[in-house]
Amino acid sequence: MISVQSLYKSFNQLEVLKDINLDVASGEVVVIIGPSGSGKSTLLRCMNLLETPTKGDIIFEGTSLVNKKVNIDKLREKMGMVFQHFNLFPHKSILNNLTLSPIKVKKIPKPEAEQVARNLLEKVGLAEKADNFPSQLSGGQKQRVAIARALAMQPDVMLFDEPTSALDPEMVKEVLQVMKDLAFEGMTMVVVTHEMGFAREVGDRIVFMDEGQILEVATPQQFFQNPQHPRAQEFLSKVL
Ligand code: ADP
Ligand code: MG
Repeated sequence: MISVQSLYKSFNQLEVLKDINLDVASGEVVVIIGPSGSGKSTLLRCMNLLETPTKGDIIFEGTSLVNKKVNIDKLREKMGMVFQHFNLFPHKSILNNLTLSPIKVKKIPKPEAEQVARNLLEKVGLAEKADNFPSQLSGGQKQRVAIARALAMQPDVMLFDEPTSALDPEMVKEVLQVMKDLAFEGMTMVVVTHEMGFAREVGDRIVFMDEGQILEVATPQQFFQNPQHPRAQEFLSKVL
């Protein structure tokens, strides 16, 4: 579904991604881990062109994203993105947060968009919050709304950038559970996270990054029991 090929990204003189190669298959859950500043967010942001690659290519569903003619809006419809900070529309109800883009961008009739939205809120356990506003929700609830909002566009892949890092500990679990459900339903997912339990349990493959490079790609079992790269070993010794 996604093929990242010899991707480089620099910010001025700073080379942040160096020769990244990574394929994500349909239905696969790829978990990206690594120290802060290693380029994880930049890689995710290159995947949906929030950042422009300096060199290399990203092929998504057969189309090169480096091609100047690529329709970024159409691309982003197909790639749901969930950030550390939820970025909900503060002055819109939860229901309207979910229906806004489907109605505006996809021209879905309002009643249909609202039905889909209510089903998604049900799925993330927030059916009763449809008429509330974001400020009335806890962090964990907001993040579940953000996930539902991304799903409302019926994306082919979901990109998560540390979706639980800004949450109080007691709210992490409810968000991870929603992501787990999504994975088990077969959603293609690329997840940057520090939640090693989630990586181990839900990941099909672990990608370890450090200093702008992918140093190791392995199954969770291989990676957590027997990491090969010294820097992966060092990282795990600090976080486990
Ligand atoms: P991670 O998500 O792994 O913590 P990032 O991808 O956010 O890492 O950042 C990788 C490196 O790129 C860091 O050194 C960071 O300071 C730098 N960086 C990220 N975004 C920008 C930007 N817009 N301009 C300049 N430097 C950036
Ligand atoms: Mg980051």
